Amino acid sequence: MSDPNVHYGADVGANLAAVRARIASAAKSAGRAADAVTLVAVSKTHGVDAIRAALAAGQRVFGENRVQEAEEKWPALKREYPDVVLHLIGPLQTNKAADAALLFDVIETVDRDRLAARLATVFARLARPRPRLFVQVNTGEEPQKAGVIPADADAFITACRGTQGLAVDGLMCIPPVDEEPSPHFALLAKIAARNGLSQLSMGMSADYEIAVAFGATHVRVGTAIFGAR
Ligand SMILES: *Cc1c(COP(=O)(O)O)cnc(C)c1O
Repeated sequence: MSDPNVHYGADVGANLAAVRARIASAAKSAGRAADAVTLVAVSKTHGVDAIRAALAAGQRVFGENRVQEAEEKWPALKREYPDVVLHLIGPLQTNKAADAALLFDVIETVDRDRLAARLATVFARLARPRPRLFVQVNTGEEPQKAGVIPADADAFITACRGTQGLAVDGLMCIPPVDEEPSPHFALLAKIAARNGLSQLSMGMSADYEIAVAFGATHVRVGTAIFGAR
């Protein structure tokens, strides 16, 4: 968790304004509307004081990568700010699917049949609006990384929709850290297009402007807003 003695307010507000301006300018260069791109402020490892600074600056869409950490920080904040939209951007264990469905509004990391089946079961008896779902694609086919490999993506999306009866809204990827991200963003956009999916979550602090040029509808930015973790 972040240092309670650090005062985030001014920095976080200024950082958010700068990131929003760069998104708007990248969108404009790509002939896209600025509001076609949603900024997901990634608050993982940062405490409630940092999150409050972002909320005070008008930010309402946030990303967390661990269910348990989000459960410690977000239930009270979501009661206070009912218009917050919370994205799960980290791997989801099957035994945490029910907890995730109770707290998150978007789950970006659906990537295997067992998880899809579990989510379908959980959603059937969920007493709140169902989280929207993105399928995570492991575009770099990295063995240590979550996500369905590109060759299996079409079949997995079809299975989610068909067998599991889940609505899929879009795709998410995390390109390999040591590679040029553009081919990965292009590949994700291509898989989305051929599956009739309009939402693309791609781009982080180092490459979100490139992602916007390749059609990102959601960029997940942590460090550039909240500082180093
Ligand atoms: C941490 C994280 C981010 C944000 O990364 P930054 O480089 O700090 O912007 C984005 N996406 C995922 C999946 C993450 O885990």
